[in-house]
Amino acid sequence: MNELCQLTIHEAHELLKRRGISSVELTKATLKRVDELESKVHACVTITEDIALKAAEKVDNYIKTSNEITPLTGIPTLIKDVICTKGIRTTCSSKMLENFIPPYNATVIEKLKAQKAVIIGKTNMDEFAMGSSTEHSAFFPTHNPWDLSRVPGGSSGGSAVGIATDEAIYALGSDTGGSIRQPAGFCSVVGLKPTYGRVSRFGLVAFASSLDQIGPITKDVTDCALVMNAIAGYDPRDSTSVPYPVPDYTRQLIPDLKGLRIGIPQEYFVEGMQKEVRAALELAIGKLQELGAEIDWEAHLPHTKYALAAYYILAPSEASANLARYDGVKYGFSHQNASNVIETTEKTRQFGFGPEVKRRIMLGTYALSAGYYDAYYLKAQKVRTLIKQEFDQAFQKYDALVAPTSPTTAFKLGEKLEDPMQMYLSDVCTLPINIAGIPAISIPAGFANGLPIGMQIMGKPFDEETLLHIAFAYEQATDWHKRKPPL
Ligand code: GLN
Repeated sequence: MNELCQLTIHEAHELLKRRGISSVELTKATLKRVDELESKVHACVTITEDIALKAAEKVDNYIKTSNEITPLTGIPTLIKDVICTKGIRTTCSSKMLENFIPPYNATVIEKLKAQKAVIIGKTNMDEFAMGSSTEHSAFFPTHNPWDLSRVPGGSSGGSAVGIATDEAIYALGSDTGGSIRQPAGFCSVVGLKPTYGRVSRFGLVAFASSLDQIGPITKDVTDCALVMNAIAGYDPRDSTSVPYPVPDYTRQLIPDLKGLRIGIPQEYFVEGMQKEVRAALELAIGKLQELGAEIDWEAHLPHTKYALAAYYILAPSEASANLARYDGVKYGFSHQNASNVIETTEKTRQFGFGPEVKRRIMLGTYALSAGYYDAYYLKAQKVRTLIKQEFDQAFQKYDALVAPTSPTTAFKLGEKLEDPMQMYLSDVCTLPINIAGIPAISIPAGFANGLPIGMQIMGKPFDEETLLHIAFAYEQATDWHKRKPPL
């Protein structure tokens, strides 16, 4: 394999700055890697080779005359196909949007472009981000590079695989209930779900608006901080984005954890979790202690057990409203063989949506209907408040909480496809974080039988810095993140 595509953002940046490499060379190296591997892993829905090379050439011309190069300048990236890219097909891995070319960029894309980032493609995902395995893509499943017979996790499976395989230097994903962290854990890369409101959702195709956030998927923690520096911040075009100042997320990247109090919530070590995952987590937490953190092994968040049930009322309810826009009239797929408008809409949805999306729309419509609203939706909202309050209380005692990202390592393709409940259960450890709106990061923390294990660090609202600090210290003391899949 060529070495260039293995670089991290900070390594590539140093080389670009010194003019040791050009952006065109770096971009070509990643495109070559895409070319070599896509037939095995299927991480990408669209590859934008021409656009990328043109952008890289422009960057190289710019670098020749300017010393103002920012950390993402000239660096190739992959974008989850749920984030709108002007002029580049944005499908959400759905037949409904198979030929949809957005007329505008998401705010995060504008921000990357302001740094002269180079977009090399759009990544595969579960249709409309509904799923945990990237098998619900309407096009093809993505394969886990650590074992091609297994899933990469989801819904941002394509982005996580793209980074684990060095097809790009970094990627963006979105996380509604775990979709950045769970695939990051399954693929041994770093994935951060920011605090709700920290990163603009403008141009992120909506799944469940009160839970969705965009975040980085990277090869190491420093890169994660650099991408956060680029994408975080208030956006007047997203009324839920919060006007807090954006810190320099690299500021707290220090290798020592003295003075930090970390709680280990017992409820996250669920019954039925894989014993190797538990063992790896215990070792990793021991490492945090060696690094100076004060560990409380007996933290408790008793309402955690209701999070999954509440999520599968709230997320489908919001989805059922958000997906009503796909009616075969406004944009996207439109079924042509219908005799009136109602039939157009019916047939458009029948053929345009896959089975998981239909399931969510039905669940949500049911939970919101008269007579059931109080019993389901309203109740779930109350549970949501309790979960949020419980986290608030925990963070009076602890600076962060640590748990597994998932109860198991990556499962086999097809293994959970026919059993939605089993599929939903793979997110038990990540869903509560979205319900509470807090930030959490997943970092590589070991392997079992050659398959990656993720450690999840959860923090106070808008305190991504502490998560990055803990993650960085752990990363410095271990070398899980340096292992590459055997391709
Ligand atoms: N797996 C969860 C779901 O299917 C979360 C997905 C996500 O975070 N987008 O709803």
